[in-house]
Amino acid sequence: MKQLFLIIFGSFLMSGLSAQTWFHADTIMKHINYLASEELQGRGTGTEGEKLASDYIVSYFKNWKLKPAGENNDYLQEFDFEAGVHGQGGRKGKANNVAGYLDNGSKFTVVIGAHYDHLGTGIDGHSLDPHSEGKVHNGADDNASGTAGVLELARYFSTNTEKEPFNFLFVCFSGEELGLLGSAYYSEHPGIDLKNVTCMINMDMVGRLKQDEPVLEVSGIGTAPEWKSILEKFQSKALKIQMDSAGVGPSDHTSFYNKDIPVLHFFTGTHSDYHKPSDDVDKINAEGEEAVLMIISGIIAQLPVDRKLEFLKTRNPSMNSSKSFKVTLGIMPSYTGGTDGLKVEAVIDDKPAFKAGMKDGDIITKIGDNEIHDIQDYMKALGKFEKGQSAIVTVNRNGNLVELKVTF
Ligand SMILES: [Zn+2]
Repeated sequence: MKQLFLIIFGSFLMSGLSAQTWFHADTIMKHINYLASEELQGRGTGTEGEKLASDYIVSYFKNWKLKPAGENNDYLQEFDFEAGVHGQGGRKGKANNVAGYLDNGSKFTVVIGAHYDHLGTGIDGHSLDPHSEGKVHNGADDNASGTAGVLELARYFSTNTEKEPFNFLFVCFSGEELGLLGSAYYSEHPGIDLKNVTCMINMDMVGRLKQDEPVLEVSGIGTAPEWKSILEKFQSKALKIQMDSAGVGPSDHTSFYNKDIPVLHFFTGTHSDYHKPSDDVDKINAEGEEAVLMIISGIIAQLPVDRKLEFLKTRNPSMNSSKSFKVTLGIMPSYTGGTDGLKVEAVIDDKPAFKAGMKDGDIITKIGDNEIHDIQDYMKALGKFEKGQSAIVTVNRNGNLVELKVTF
């Protein structure tokens, strides 16, 4: 397997991502088309649309003869949820995780997960559309793409002719958008013994790999000493891997990191449709996702088989402290670095930066008197302002410096 893999993978990288692979863009697209269709009404946690999505996932898990790994010998695992700020004061109900286990009789297990819920019709207050209520948030990238990734990897690992040296747990979480509820519950009530899990791989938003200069963001590199050298093998001119060490982040791998399990989170980057009704299927790059799945299967082929990865604790990301800020600019920063300043991936409608005329793609170089070279500078500078204060924010827009007056 390993030899064959490296040969195929080598040709795959050299051909600029256009080679034959064992994942299929059309199948990825088929899954995303259904999961992000109007019929599923945005897969809000505990809704009828989410039920249709879990039925869909279960039908494939059954087809591939995965063992039920939810609860009560079922693929589903029900848990209680409450929406609202910090899981309080909102809609209450029951939602389901979906889990299937591929038992290869191996010593160790790889967990492959993604959340399949999204924002539904924008009623729980997590939408970035200022008038979200009643609008279907299809969540094609977030996270029909990751769910399709779980399905494609499950298909591949359960139907390939060569027996893999690992068992696999495939799990689709609900309640992620309400605060990682499903994965937190699953990690407390797992359908398999987590003691034999060597790592957890999470895909959250893997459907929007850029066509020119594609970058795949992978976080969790610091959670095992082996990750960096494994990941380096998949660096290529055709697809740059941007690594981040943190094991804690805004997605479900955090729940497994908290159980001392090495994790990786795969992410093709933020965009201006994030958490908006416009996160639709027409913007999905299915060939790009195919490449992401090739890299994930390649990484799995590089894992040690005779021992578990060694778990390491990582620094907490500086973004965690943003919750304590009194002010916000209202942008989605780019986490990929590589520019002097802070690149604005997306400007959020009706927030201070938007009102001041900031544009997607601007690079923030100064806030008031504070020079901004990276995200740390940016966080430090924001911490100095109070609500209602104004500041001149200097941005680099296509090589020209533009000054914007922002009122926080
Ligand atoms: Zn997500």
